[in-house]
Amino acid sequence: MNNKIKVMKFGGTSVGAPDRMRQVANLIQADNQPKIVVLSALSGTTNSLVAIGDSWKAMKTNEVAQQIQRLYNHYQRFLKGLLTTEYSSGQAVVDLHFDQIKKLTAVSYNRSSNRELLAQGELMSTKLFSLYLKEISVKAELVPALDLVSLDEDGEPEIELMGERLKPIIASHPDCHLFITQGYICRNHLGEIDNLKRGGSDYTASLLGAAIEASSIEIWTDIDGMHNNDPRIVPDTFPLEALSFNEAAELAYFGAKILHPNTIWPAQKYDIPVRLLNTMVPEAKGTTISSTKTSGSIKAIAAKDSIIAIKIKSSRMLLAYGFMRKVFEIFEQFKVPIDMITTSEVAVSLTIDDDEHLTALVTALEGYGEVAVDKNMSIVCIVGDLISEEIGLIKKALRSIGDQPVRMISYGGSRNNISILVPTSTKKEVLLSLNQGLFQAEQVPAGD
Ligand code: ASP
Ligand code: MG
Repeated sequence: MNNKIKVMKFGGTSVGAPDRMRQVANLIQADNQPKIVVLSALSGTTNSLVAIGDSWKAMKTNEVAQQIQRLYNHYQRFLKGLLTTEYSSGQAVVDLHFDQIKKLTAVSYNRSSNRELLAQGELMSTKLFSLYLKEISVKAELVPALDLVSLDEDGEPEIELMGERLKPIIASHPDCHLFITQGYICRNHLGEIDNLKRGGSDYTASLLGAAIEASSIEIWTDIDGMHNNDPRIVPDTFPLEALSFNEAAELAYFGAKILHPNTIWPAQKYDIPVRLLNTMVPEAKGTTISSTKTSGSIKAIAAKDSIIAIKIKSSRMLLAYGFMRKVFEIFEQFKVPIDMITTSEVAVSLTIDDDEHLTALVTALEGYGEVAVDKNMSIVCIVGDLISEEIGLIKKALRSIGDQPVRMISYGGSRNNISILVPTSTKKEVLLSLNQGLFQAEQVPAGD
């Protein structure tokens, strides 16, 4: 029976105004298939809660009070637009959570209370949505994510346990087709309220989909799917109808903001298709991400900023073994993931996207050679089924880039990705040229 359940996740903008929330209520009733509905906080709420937490940490008491009041006013307006017969219940929900926000921030800051503060957005959106469903006489069960989603000591999700918790709940409500829950929030191994990091509601949807082996995981946003290039920079981009899990993972990680990068692996592991759909245009095809091999070669280009390149040069590396291990161990010691890597006989260049431990990392690496750091770099990533692509792909890519400086190139690491590291100041130019050379040139008759 569980096989037939699907997961539908709606992001902050999809629930961010009363009319949008009503639209979500329509979408989840479009057919009789049982559904787990995962909601984000109303758009802007988590940002506001983060800002309140920052002021609280900095002990700016007046600012905290003003920020809370502003957010409270926003919820007052939202309530008026959403509820009528359930209005006073909605008011009680909002008051309860704002009392909690005030209570938390009245005492001194600590990280665990701050995580509880951040959880208030999703707790409110789901309760208000449930009240709206009640008002329009739609039967639904609100299942608290804090009773479902958990992380182990390493911060890894406990998917099997989530299934063991959720399946009996679904089974005990045979006449109910809609189960509402919060995205983003969870409990850590200490039982404290925690979260799956910013944008983590997508990840919740994927984890729950995996836990109950859902028929599909739908991620509803306000964009019509993953595009073949960054629509903020490149004109005339288009949505991709189908992507493999690997292609989507590369794109999600390398800059396509539409999907949290962690969303892919649980879906891939349990082979559950992920669909990216648009609340504003529900009939549009969107993007389907699945294990089905897709046709076509180069699918998309994406870029990720704030990359740091680190070069370690050592004549001792010449003909030596064990050098790489030592270098990697240093990154492991600081728990800093490496994105790209290229080597020559006497040097290795790596990229990272997190400068938190940069100084200590560089000091440790200096024990093994000369270290050079380049900041403000961007990884431009070309994604597709590249091995089946014609032989001239690298030539085509580099020719399109023309005279732009390239700091690193990584090819052959997987069949799905070529990564090129360029200064962020040239990223726009590089994206436009690659778009021209890889997508538009195909329309020009052959024979260059
Ligand atoms: N509300 C959280 C955020 O804004 C989680 C999410 O929307 O995915 O990051
Ligand atoms: Mg999101």
